[in-house]
Amino acid sequence: MAEEVDFYPMWESLGMDTKAHDMLLGAVGQMYGDMFLAQQNRPQACDYLNVFATNLHSGEIKEKLDAKETGAAKKIIGSFCLYVPEEIVTAAGGIPIGLCSGADFATSEVEKHLPRNTCPLIKSFAGFRLGRVCPYIQSADLVIGENTCDGKKKAYEWFATQKPMYVVDVPHVRTDETKQMWRNEIHRLAERLEQETGQKITPESLHEGIILANNKRRALQRLSKLRAADPTPISGLDSLLLTQAAFMDDPVRLADAINKVCDECEQRVAAGEGVAPKGAKRILYTGTPMAVPNWKLFNIIEKSGGVVVGEECCTGSRYYKDLVAETGETVDQMLDDIADRYFNIQCAIFTPNHGREQDVMQMAKDLNADGIIDCSLQFCTIYEMEAFGMELTAQENNVPYMHITTDYSTEDEGQLKTRIQAFLEMI
Ligand code: SF4
Ligand code: SF4
Repeated sequence: MAEEVDFYPMWESLGMDTKAHDMLLGAVGQMYGDMFLAQQNRPQACDYLNVFATNLHSGEIKEKLDAKETGAAKKIIGSFCLYVPEEIVTAAGGIPIGLCSGADFATSEVEKHLPRNTCPLIKSFAGFRLGRVCPYIQSADLVIGENTCDGKKKAYEWFATQKPMYVVDVPHVRTDETKQMWRNEIHRLAERLEQETGQKITPESLHEGIILANNKRRALQRLSKLRAADPTPISGLDSLLLTQAAFMDDPVRLADAINKVCDECEQRVAAGEGVAPKGAKRILYTGTPMAVPNWKLFNIIEKSGGVVVGEECCTGSRYYKDLVAETGETVDQMLDDIADRYFNIQCAIFTPNHGREQDVMQMAKDLNADGIIDCSLQFCTIYEMEAFGMELTAQENNVPYMHITTDYSTEDEGQLKTRIQAFLEMI
């Protein structure tokens, strides 16, 4: 039997409020049980996720701190956005971690520093910091922000009073000039990371960083293709958590676990076995990212008899659909390859951003979706704005479409359930 580890000394050494943290862990654990463990016909290989979820604030963090202690890694580098390339962090000897921000915490404290009508994702990372309940934020030596939406870029000015920060400048239009600017910005980021870790990026380390990230993406691409089957072999909830894990878990172990899930899903597809019955209404999700533990919407869709077959968002296809070229030979070439791959992420901060509409329609077709649910977090102006164009595109392509605005609270669950059930009946 594995020896029980007492994680309290570690949490205390990170300056955490262990009482508040116990409450948070209790609430998230309960939610995980109600949402994930209550699923029927789940692939057995998804047990990996149970272990991951249990270790999220304990073993996973310890592993990263131990790597620093033994010198296997130099620094822990946090980020909030897909535009911060994990390949470069790894190559510089850092451990990249996504700072999840998927639950409300210490909201009244947050509203002393940020406006009330700020999106829940931003309020969440502020609350996790002020409440001292996130071991990831606490252990990050440097946080890399980005000037994407207005909310985040202004909130980082305050967050920089809390943690050492570096903000990358992401262009908002795609031209040859901005592409070059973005390449320069990525080169600057690499220098800043080298300065932070004291480790020079070499062609070997950067190539290895690219391969590590690409292998996770390949495994997630494989999983995405399998979800096109009817019945679909795996739930949206489990698929979402596998992608969310890509921002926190050990890359080699996770890629291996996703491939094992795929092996089992292949057998299930061949046997006509699914997580939901054949003919269950198939939903493509698009919209704002779903950070851990924001599983509310997927849970409602799937407990209402639908099944989510794909996610066009930063915790979905935008993370894995494109690989970084693996042919670069010099650090400069590879940094340009990384910049070019990330420049192609179809985020709503870009204008115009019709590539996102095209991606959504392509995914709806490839995954045999019956309908699209487009969701914006409350006060997220850019995704709210894009919903109008998305609806029009869906109409032109004869795909049923529904737009939802929500937050992290449970208050609107009843209303969402009613609307989603009506949508599932209608399609
Ligand atoms: S939606 Fe845009 S700003 Fe938000 S994480 Fe994704 S790329 Fe970054
Ligand atoms: S959900 Fe919208 S407002 Fe919130 S951080 Fe992301 S892009 Fe910004």
